[in-house]
Amino acid sequence: FQLPKAKNEPVLSYAPGSPEKAALKAKMAEMKGQTIEIPQTIGGKKIMEGEKIAIRPPHDHKHILGYYYKGGSQHVQMAIDAAAAAKPAWEAMPWEERAAIFLKAADLLAGPYRAKMNAATMLGQSKNAYQAEIDCVAELCDFYRFNAEYMIQIYSEQPQSPALTWNRMEYRALEGFVFAITPFNFTSIAGNLPAAPALMGNTVIWKPAETQIYSAAVIMEIFEAAGLPAGVINLLLVDGPIAGDLIFSHPDFAGLHFTGSTKVFQGMWTTIGKNIAKYKSYPRIVGETGGKDFILAHPSANPTALAVAMVRGAFEYQGQKCSAASRAYVPSSIWPAVKEKAVALVKDMKMGSPEDFRNFINAVIDERAFDKITNYIVLARDAKDAEIIAGGKYDKTKGYFIEPTLVVVTDPKHRLLQEEIFGPVLTIYVYEDAQFDEMPALVNSTSPYALTGAIFAQDRGVIHALSNALRHSAGNFYINDKPTGAVVGQQPFGGARASGTNDKAGSVWNLLRWVSPRAMKENF
Ligand code: GLU
Repeated sequence: FQLPKAKNEPVLSYAPGSPEKAALKAKMAEMKGQTIEIPQTIGGKKIMEGEKIAIRPPHDHKHILGYYYKGGSQHVQMAIDAAAAAKPAWEAMPWEERAAIFLKAADLLAGPYRAKMNAATMLGQSKNAYQAEIDCVAELCDFYRFNAEYMIQIYSEQPQSPALTWNRMEYRALEGFVFAITPFNFTSIAGNLPAAPALMGNTVIWKPAETQIYSAAVIMEIFEAAGLPAGVINLLLVDGPIAGDLIFSHPDFAGLHFTGSTKVFQGMWTTIGKNIAKYKSYPRIVGETGGKDFILAHPSANPTALAVAMVRGAFEYQGQKCSAASRAYVPSSIWPAVKEKAVALVKDMKMGSPEDFRNFINAVIDERAFDKITNYIVLARDAKDAEIIAGGKYDKTKGYFIEPTLVVVTDPKHRLLQEEIFGPVLTIYVYEDAQFDEMPALVNSTSPYALTGAIFAQDRGVIHALSNALRHSAGNFYINDKPTGAVVGQQPFGGARASGTNDKAGSVWNLLRWVSPRAMKENF
């Protein structure tokens, strides 16, 4: 039995005059003209009770796209019960059937749902068409298709059998339910975190970020259209602490699949630790958390390629990627050329609504993010040892807009080089070429994170030396490229230290966390 061979979903261009652009524009206009209501989906039931909360585009916060119904602790209990009720039939279903559901979801997404999924991500999370396409279409399709292939690789890993014996490994689902908590910044992560454990036979309670519910509802619609049985993935729209209270004290809590902040993850891990004796099994804890991702350039680096990587790595999707370039170390010999190019590129970036396809920069996700990021810009503006060389302005009258901002600091341990900002701010430290040997130790010791990092050099010896010296500084390490945009099936994504458990989203290693193998021996 074989699956169709997984291939990366092609990324469409949305160029002027293209049919995909016309379809997407029409879909966005249609969706902006509606006011939808988003229920919780628990055990296949649509639950429309509780407080109604408005959903607004971050770039146009007076407009209302719809409402979602916020639930309470009774719904958490319902979700736990629904996951338990759906489990026996789901885990007994042949894996071909489970794979078929997610492969169909990928085809629906790539075909009839493509425009709707993109439109929902662009309007709800303020992404431009290209950023939406690589996320909620291409990457999410890739997650579903490659995971099906990785599942087969896992199932085919079988032991030896001497004569008159049959040894086999049964890759059972975990006993209990999995809790998936997903972020706003990638619709693909929101769609993958509940799906990966489900593919392996688990039932899941999925709590998306409040700021991603608009596109989460489309994911749920696709799951249903693909034939996912009721109760396998339950969409729970309640406040985190209310969900956590019941879920983390339940004996059937079997796993956590999380992407979000380091602080929240550590808090949950502590709670799980306190409750450890209550659980039937030791839960699997998988998390991808923060980053303070670096670019380190050597004097042999190509200044133009470096400048392009700096601004794309730092400012695509307003820097709201865990992988975003957030600190850069540039040698003084090439700095004038790099600075000229980077500043020119930033000046060229248009900012505004993603509904106008010329805008490269859109809004940051909400007011809280706006206030946090702009506080860092104020810090840069007021500090004697920092200088803003591009951008630095912001305005929240219509939407949460912050200009892409380049800051140069003279203190190699500046706060702006240490703390995760999660917005369009790139801090640069210009070092004297003669200091180069000190740079790896500086990069390595300046932040607690280790998610992504990039080095720029033409000198092969330097590339080799830096790859060794920075071995533990990033889980995704790029040589002469920006540190964002990992592709499923090409660069499995994740980091260690304060950045997560490094179980690599969309990989065999990740799927292995959602099974509890049984070794079986049968004598003939
Ligand atoms: N996988 C994304 C990338 O490589 C980042 C995911 C994240 O921000 O969590 O850019």
